[in-house]
Amino acid sequence: MSFNLTARVAVVTGGSSGIGLETVRLLLAEGAKVAWCGRNPARLAESERLMREAFPAGQMLSLCCDVLDRGQVEAFAAQVREAFGGVDCLINNAGQGRVSSFAETADEDWLAEAELKLFSVINPVRAFQPMLEASDCASITNVNSLLALQPEPHMIATSAARAGLLNLSHSLSHEFAARGIRVNSILLGMVESGQWRRRFEDRSDKSMDWDSWIAAIAAKRGIPLGRLGKPEEPARALVFLASPLASFTTGAALDVSGGFNRHL
Ligand code: NDP
Repeated sequence: MSFNLTARVAVVTGGSSGIGLETVRLLLAEGAKVAWCGRNPARLAESERLMREAFPAGQMLSLCCDVLDRGQVEAFAAQVREAFGGVDCLINNAGQGRVSSFAETADEDWLAEAELKLFSVINPVRAFQPMLEASDCASITNVNSLLALQPEPHMIATSAARAGLLNLSHSLSHEFAARGIRVNSILLGMVESGQWRRRFEDRSDKSMDWDSWIAAIAAKRGIPLGRLGKPEEPARALVFLASPLASFTTGAALDVSGGFNRHL
């Protein structure tokens, strides 16, 4: 079954690594025209090199852009309009989590976390909204975390900010329904990607290799499916929600956590 995205235009924020890069890959495989961004120029260039190698005929655009800088996001949107003429799917993926308890979280950390989780969505939504309104199958899909519903004390600021983003996504789905734009989220558990690679580099027990380190985390945390997710798994959920296949779904939050969800 196809996602019906051939020749549609998709934008992925934070597309240079992990879940975002796998989402870009799947969208290109589906024949979509894809624009993505990230801050680090070398990482972005490498992601584009990989995608051009995999999809020589693919229509793609990668641009350096910090989603927290409204001017940069507006410039990104202008370049996408120039290259592709419009946008059908906006996937807000850029970001990272913050590991800290209440005692370890300073006021500026709270503000930074709230800014990251909310404005990483608000800025792109504002910049791409006119193009989305002109599409006949518009969607916004936000990467969120299970922490929004199931907070963890060791990620207190991220959990609270994620709850705010879930609330914002739901409100947007109602306000934007009349404009023909669907708004959905995915709620992630733990997914192998750049963030976990960096935590692995900082691990206390350097004798553990990647596979045993990951397996130990899954066992310790009690993930029912017994492992962390692979980045291509949330990518499939994102592309489904973004696509016309999900045409009657808006305001939804799809769990992609391997069963880590403890509530009904
Ligand atoms: P990665 O670190 O592999 O990828 C993050 C991507 O976002 C990179 O391309 C990064 O590029 C980009 N990025 C980060 N901040 C910005 C910014 N301000 N502006 C533009 N681009 C940015 O992580 P994941 O793939 O794991 O994470 C993807 C999303 O999923 C994030 O929002 C993360 O918080 C969320 N998530 C991930 C979980 C997991 O277990 N992996 C769990 C819960 C949520 P660059 O640094 O060059 O800007």
